[in-house]
Amino acid sequence: MQTQLFIDGHWTAPAAGGTFPVVDPATERVIHQAPAGTAADIDRAVAAARRAFDEGPWPRLSGTERAGYLRAIAAAVTARREELARLEVLDNGKPLPEALWDIDDVAGCFGFYAGLAEKLDTDPDEVVALADARFSSSVVLEPMGVVGAIVPWNYPLLMATWKVAPALAAGCTLVLKPSELTPLTALELGAIAEEVGLPPGVLNIVTGLGPEAGAPLTSHPAVDKLAFTGSVPTGRKVMAAAAADIKKVSLELGGKSPFIVFADSDIEKAVEWIMFGIFWNQGQVCSATSRVLIEASAYDAVLERLAAEAARIRIGSGLEEGTLLGPIVSRGQYDKILAAIARGVEQGARIVTGGGRPADRNVGYFLQPTVLADMDETSEVWREEIFGPVVCVKPFTDEADAVRMANDSRFGLAGAVMSKDLVRCERVARALRAGIVWINCSQPTFTEAPWGGYKQSGIGRELGRWGLSNYLEVKQITRYESDDPWGWYIR
Ligand code: NAD
Repeated sequence: MQTQLFIDGHWTAPAAGGTFPVVDPATERVIHQAPAGTAADIDRAVAAARRAFDEGPWPRLSGTERAGYLRAIAAAVTARREELARLEVLDNGKPLPEALWDIDDVAGCFGFYAGLAEKLDTDPDEVVALADARFSSSVVLEPMGVVGAIVPWNYPLLMATWKVAPALAAGCTLVLKPSELTPLTALELGAIAEEVGLPPGVLNIVTGLGPEAGAPLTSHPAVDKLAFTGSVPTGRKVMAAAAADIKKVSLELGGKSPFIVFADSDIEKAVEWIMFGIFWNQGQVCSATSRVLIEASAYDAVLERLAAEAARIRIGSGLEEGTLLGPIVSRGQYDKILAAIARGVEQGARIVTGGGRPADRNVGYFLQPTVLADMDETSEVWREEIFGPVVCVKPFTDEADAVRMANDSRFGLAGAVMSKDLVRCERVARALRAGIVWINCSQPTFTEAPWGGYKQSGIGRELGRWGLSNYLEVKQITRYESDDPWGWYIR
């Protein structure tokens, strides 16, 4: 495990010399002391990224040359697959098979953006049709500059990759600030950057606390673009900091996504996808379908089966064979989830199953898969993101009622709809005010497709070609092609 920051191609101690503890959520034991970066380290990292962008080779390489590095990173991630996945489990708590899935996605994402970097070389500049034939205009895409990337703890290396891979493909340089709850794999990305010979300063990694390392990055005048994934309150601060010098900003924030289940659905399939939508990664998923709306005539049957299946989920350390639900990431998150359940009950929710610590787990931040019902539409559990394995279930009367309830949220990240009537599914998918809608499933995520939210769930899109656009400036080059004098002043 790394003990230093990765700045300008070197491993370096934090200027203030501090560390912060990294805790294994399954054992509550401190497993490492990570370097605590502060404003002075951010200054050094941004200066290195600035130099690498303004004077270094990176933005001047061809897309194909940059793709070579991205493919080498993908290969190095794959070579260290098992080790990186185990670090992710120790840091975040998730079951090992999920962590392996994440690491494969990381390698896949670097490979995908390598392909898009190559395409930058071969795609012809777009020609813009102008109304005045004396002029011609074309569009070139150029890297945005120095990127400040700040990411959360739920998919530590994957969330970093969703920013690092497209930003590198575009020709940007970065300072990455991972979450203080899960700094381990991001630092390993520094080791991989070193191993593949990424030019110094292109990728800098500063671990540290939000206010001490994250905030100085958001307010640094030499950063051109902020790419943030995290909670709405922090996203608001990032946006406010960006406003000071009009930095470009993209935000991937929270959600309270609905899953609408019509009565013609197969109950077993519905319950399977409902559980995948809320218990995968302990429900610590921005797009988790945490509000389940079930057509009234099927409500009792689906709820009963869901409660029975949820109660059977195998809870344990992410490293134990057969675990389907690991611990919550930290004591702080654990307490927040328990408090949200308690407030929900105070406000009228009924605990159908779960609601607390499993009887056989005294140590570790373990929480039972929890199903809540009978809450009011105005209650906090129904409206606010809990970010844990807690699903709220309510009945609806008809399609219009379902769509109204689903859209009655300040969030708009994702949504899901299940029915045998595919025409109805398509209609509901279009009626949902959300950036991602799944039909007859919930959560499958593809590097090729756009990811991001409506309303307070964020600004911009990651992944796919949209993810690359986040890091590209659009420049028009317009030429006067006529031999005739322009003739405005001098006739
Ligand atoms: P968070 O907002 O607490 O922290 C996110 C990051 O911001 C961390 O690295 C943190 O250190 C940093 N930070 C904290 N204060 C800061 C400040 N003042 N200035 C700059 N940086 C600061 O979020 P979290 O608890 O780590 O993550 C959970 C949230 O992330 C949830 O709301 C979830 O929905 C969201 N999320 C969204 C997506 C998405 O794609 N939309 C994906 C994953 C997580």
